[in-house]
Amino acid sequence: MHTPGSRSSSTAELVVHDDAVRANTAWFADRTGGHLMAVLKADAFGHGSVARSVVAAGATAIGVTSVTEALAIRADRVDVPVLSWLNPVDADFDSAVTADVDLAVSSTELLDAVSRAAARVGRTSRVHLHVDLGMSRDGAPHDTWAALCTAAALLERHGTVRVVGVMGHMSCADRPDDPQNARETLRFANAVRTARRRGLSGFVTHLAATAATITGVGSGHGLHRIGAGLFGIDPSATSDALVPTLSLTAPVVSTRAVAAGAGIGYGHDHVVERPTNLALLPLGYADGLPRAASDRAEVQVRGRRRPVVGRFSMDMVVVDTGDDRLRPGETVTLFGRGTAGEPTVADWARWAGTIEHEIVTGIGPRVRRVHSTAPAGAATGTAAARA
Ligand SMILES: *Cc1c(COP(=O)(O)O)cnc(C)c1O
Repeated sequence: MHTPGSRSSSTAELVVHDDAVRANTAWFADRTGGHLMAVLKADAFGHGSVARSVVAAGATAIGVTSVTEALAIRADRVDVPVLSWLNPVDADFDSAVTADVDLAVSSTELLDAVSRAAARVGRTSRVHLHVDLGMSRDGAPHDTWAALCTAAALLERHGTVRVVGVMGHMSCADRPDDPQNARETLRFANAVRTARRRGLSGFVTHLAATAATITGVGSGHGLHRIGAGLFGIDPSATSDALVPTLSLTAPVVSTRAVAAGAGIGYGHDHVVERPTNLALLPLGYADGLPRAASDRAEVQVRGRRRPVVGRFSMDMVVVDTGDDRLRPGETVTLFGRGTAGEPTVADWARWAGTIEHEIVTGIGPRVRRVHSTAPAGAATGTAAARA
């Protein structure tokens, strides 16, 4: 990574603050008594390769959605249990079982597909039964749960399946006072009891994600599945313990001075009121800058906030730098840790009318990822590895 002004990059850069990811992970490892599954779906919420860091910081398992994502974690030679929980019935379960990937199943069709894969590759598959607690999304519907447990118990006796987990996911945990939380925790307790009655035992139960862990509404289980929190996002907005993990910078491509009345960009959504200087940045909505933040967002340059003006383009945006005529190549910060007055991911989410998750997972492939080992809290640092 470069300190602002010291070395300019020719492209936009997303700096992943590895120490911040580790600090957040360690906070959750402590909070969960070490029962921490790091959820690294969607390329680790846009952060890229952080599996080794989160394991070093206390995560005891990793969770992802697809088998493809799980195999990528395994290819990184990370030696903790890896759970994949969202797959169609014809997913590559042979490879998953061979690579010792845990699989969540929510139907007898999926369970049978996993069992057949295990028989083909001559191993026992590690399965988590997933029950729907009220989201009506993934997970086994309530009226199918008992039959799923019975089928799993039968396959355990055949040796193709071992039920190592029972999981549920909460719909309203970011609102701790919502009565839905009590309904869902009760449903989960009942589902676990049903699993035991149907002959299953020795499994871990897991219910809470970030919000339920921070607010405590999903406590009392053997594992916590934490995604957003590792990346500084608290959906419940009740904790200030987490730190931002990303900085996005871009070099100035060109500058110009314009007269009062100049219209900027498509449709002239913004017209300058007085003579001013503009700076062009080489990233736009194709790179994850939300178009909904047009004419609302700010960046930081030379220590000052400056407005992004006009409608965002696909590949570029324009910054009004007032009396400052920037130099081409000078570095502008779009978001960062927020410790030096720069905008944060939370600011961008607010400007775009969305959530932080969508900002961090939306940064496009043209933006270069840089993994930085700067100490948490430091504004700048040294690159350890370039991705
Ligand atoms: C994404 C996801 C998580 C992690 O949720 P966060 O709020 O990001 O911690 C946990 N469990 C399931 C099933 C998920 O889909």
